[in-house]
Amino acid sequence: MVDVIVVGAGLAGLVAARELRSAGLSMQVIEAAPAVGGRMLRAPLKPERGLRSPEGGPAWVDLGGQWVGPSHSRVLALLEAHGLRRFPSPHEGQSVLSFGSRRCTFSGFFQGFPEGLPPSLPARDWDDAMAALKQFQALVASLPAGHPHHHPDAAALDRLSFQDWIDAHTHTPFAAWYFAYFCRAVGFLGPAEPDQVSLLHVAWGQRTAPQAEHPEEELIHGGAGQLPPLLAADLGEALMLGEPVRAIHQPDAPLRDAGDGGGDVQVITDRATYAGRAAIVAMPPAMAARIRFTPTLPADRLALQEGMAMGACSKVLVAYGRPWWREAGLSGVGIGDRPWVELCADSSDPETGLGVIAAFVVGRRRERWSALGAEQRRAAVLEDLAAYFGPAALEPLDYVEKDWPRESFVGGAFAGWMPPGLWTRSGDALLRPHGRVFWAGTESAERWPGFFEGAVSSGERAAADVAALLA
Ligand SMILES: Cc1cc2nc3c(=O)[nH]c(=O)nc-3n(C[C@H](O)[C@H](O)[C@H](O)COP(=O)(O)OP(=O)(O)OC[C@H]3O[C@@H](n4cnc5c(N)ncnc54)[C@H](O)[C@@H]3O)c2cc1C
Repeated sequence: MVDVIVVGAGLAGLVAARELRSAGLSMQVIEAAPAVGGRMLRAPLKPERGLRSPEGGPAWVDLGGQWVGPSHSRVLALLEAHGLRRFPSPHEGQSVLSFGSRRCTFSGFFQGFPEGLPPSLPARDWDDAMAALKQFQALVASLPAGHPHHHPDAAALDRLSFQDWIDAHTHTPFAAWYFAYFCRAVGFLGPAEPDQVSLLHVAWGQRTAPQAEHPEEELIHGGAGQLPPLLAADLGEALMLGEPVRAIHQPDAPLRDAGDGGGDVQVITDRATYAGRAAIVAMPPAMAARIRFTPTLPADRLALQEGMAMGACSKVLVAYGRPWWREAGLSGVGIGDRPWVELCADSSDPETGLGVIAAFVVGRRRERWSALGAEQRRAAVLEDLAAYFGPAALEPLDYVEKDWPRESFVGGAFAGWMPPGLWTRSGDALLRPHGRVFWAGTESAERWPGFFEGAVSSGERAAADVAALLA
């Protein structure tokens, strides 16, 4: 019997465990996968091809999240506390915009619109996109920073898909594509196709996790994926790996009031039953849906778990001996309506001297791409990189891909998203405890949901709520 059982050892669960320990509570962390980290995961490049770190070991790339921004104060503090050093995301030079048969370069990163009309893009397309952007920004500004579903306009906005908004506010194929791309690829809580996701969700995503705050400003030497094992290092026997939780049972709970079930909580895996005074389930709602709860969950929580799908994203890291695109004045950022890669960005660690491009295959493109064979997938990505930056892209020294929707205990990337109607129906269920079971995970955060920062704040919040209950 421990005070608290934490289910899931991603960033949120590990932070919750750390907070519980510092509150003097005993805990057991149970993780389904053979390693901690969830969506925060790094992989080595091939050292035998010269892809080495300055210390001589392999150079690393992040298969999951990689960027942090200046307002991610909790994550920045954690990185500093564990001695992980950051560097500015490289983006000097011209970025590439590819649309239809046009390819042009522009100044600026991928977080927002290019700064000024890119040469060769018709002014009409640009003006249309800018006019729509103004209206989108006004909508974003009208929303609250916390969860949006109690806002007076929430129900009306939640009835529509983002595609409904695109259809009503854009008049050129370029503007329509740009907003669709933004929904699929950039920093939102997805990625989702615009016809799948609620307008309220997309607009609120920009309100509470704004690209204007530059969430992709910095990268971490050696990879962000170093952090979870460091956080888990002193858990010892309080961490069980490779043990999926199948059921959570509250035998004595009348569950009259949220957070006041009384009695204990039994967390059941294939190997054992763990007993605690409370539990924190630290994972996306879509993964919690696979756990059987008794007494059963309320209808709005069940609808949330069934309806909040995970984003369809594959991340590909392509490594070269040097960042050769810079020699042509290019930043390594490419965006466009290419067949496969709508977004890619230079992720080269300057201490290695290597060139690394992170490429994202998202939404329905990802569905088609993941059905291809390994060689075809590789060729598809490299061809798109060549279209952005030049033929040298076709000759990498290493190529690593991670198809997140195929990961059985993560289910997708970057995060979960709400289809039309779900915020209105189930928004309260994101945070409301079920008896003595509390929810964490980046999807539940009110600020920076979908990001590391949201995962950390959700772990802190759940741990504080449990500590207050058990005090
Ligand atoms: C490709 C990609 C790019 C991203 N880019 C960025 C970025 O640049 N910057 C940024 O801030 N964020 C980024 N993110 C998002 C960020 O990685 C996540 O928000 C964060 O890591 C989520 O942490 P979490 O603990 O909430 O969830 P998770 O990491 O999903 O952790 C949940 C854990 O629960 C475990 N689990 C699931 N089911 C069970 C079960 N039944 N029993 C026991 N354990 C279970 C899982 O194995 C997992 O370890 C990205 C994510 C991906 C995948």
